[in-house]
Amino acid sequence: MTEHRVYNFYPGPATLPTEVMEQAQKEFVNYQGLGMGIMECSHRGKEFDQVLQTAEQNIRELMGISNDYAVLFLQGGASLQFSMVPMNLNPDQDTALYADTGSWAEKAIKEAKLLGPTKTVFSGKGNNYTSIDDCESWDMATENGEDPAYLYVCSNNTIFGTQFHRFPEFPKIPLVADMSSDIMSRVIDINRFGMVFAGAQKNLGPAGVTVVIIRKDLAMKVGDNVPTMLKYTTHIDKGSCFNTPPTFSIYMVGLVLEWIKRQGGLAQVEAANAHKAAMLYSAIDNSDLYRGTVEESCRSQMNVTFRLPNEDMEAEFIKQATENGMVGLKGHRSVGGIRASIYNAMPVDGVKALVEFMGEFERKS
Ligand SMILES: *Cc1c(COP(=O)(O)O)cnc(C)c1O
Repeated sequence: MTEHRVYNFYPGPATLPTEVMEQAQKEFVNYQGLGMGIMECSHRGKEFDQVLQTAEQNIRELMGISNDYAVLFLQGGASLQFSMVPMNLNPDQDTALYADTGSWAEKAIKEAKLLGPTKTVFSGKGNNYTSIDDCESWDMATENGEDPAYLYVCSNNTIFGTQFHRFPEFPKIPLVADMSSDIMSRVIDINRFGMVFAGAQKNLGPAGVTVVIIRKDLAMKVGDNVPTMLKYTTHIDKGSCFNTPPTFSIYMVGLVLEWIKRQGGLAQVEAANAHKAAMLYSAIDNSDLYRGTVEESCRSQMNVTFRLPNEDMEAEFIKQATENGMVGLKGHRSVGGIRASIYNAMPVDGVKALVEFMGEFERKS
């Protein structure tokens, strides 16, 4: 089976570790001798409960999360968090601050505007989202001088290929981060965040589950008028089992977490990711054909974006890469070009193969 796998550079859903896929395959119809698959088990039974508890514990252990925070497994994708965040964290209709670093942040701002006052403290739009300014230059003042409800950032812009390498530091303002495309790709200090969320399908597993890590006291701020399913407190009180959670996706996330532990934890994963990204960026910088699209200081370690001299060559590049077993390299439809998504599960050999292919393509062109 393994020898038929391609190098999958898709941005999400994205590649998963082959050994995780194989383990899931092995257990698919008969989970640990039960005579049924884990997805056929009750979400209230002891087998699935074990899967859920272990996954939560492993997230806590890997990210160093204290009991001040809840770890939740929710549905609705990262996109539902765009509205759940303002619904839950801004009960008094204070100003919510947003950094606009591109499409995913824009979508979050759009939802927040439906629900209360917002202010964009930084926008990369004028720069076509190719850079992120230092937070020291952000205008954090609120209109009425009230304390802002929170500050929202998207830690890694999957589409443009930019990433915060240093998070904003405003200790009095709860920091909320959409980490969908870089959660667990590096070591972070969770205590600097009020809340972090991530759709699983980039770095953690398959689509269908969203991991939410939220400081419990922030979750408690929610007003009475928020519908039950949309309150974090509902899911905290019921341990992510208020209703049927996405059991199979959670099981898969659990396997990925065990895999991350086998890699040695987040520091090791971070080093491997830095190595992979450096290989690719240096191939771009040392070539006359490829051109990186974002400012060096905010280049993403997860989504490497670049261009060729024209769209025909880009199409040819993608076609030949596919023929050589490297798929998913087409840039997002809104920006074009090439995007190589090199999440945790992309093996270094995949990046090596891509770099070699880029060299050959350049020589032949
Ligand atoms: C993919 C992505 C999303 C959207 O996730 P869904 O689970 O499809 O809603 C949101 N934010 C970022 C940064 C993403 O990369």
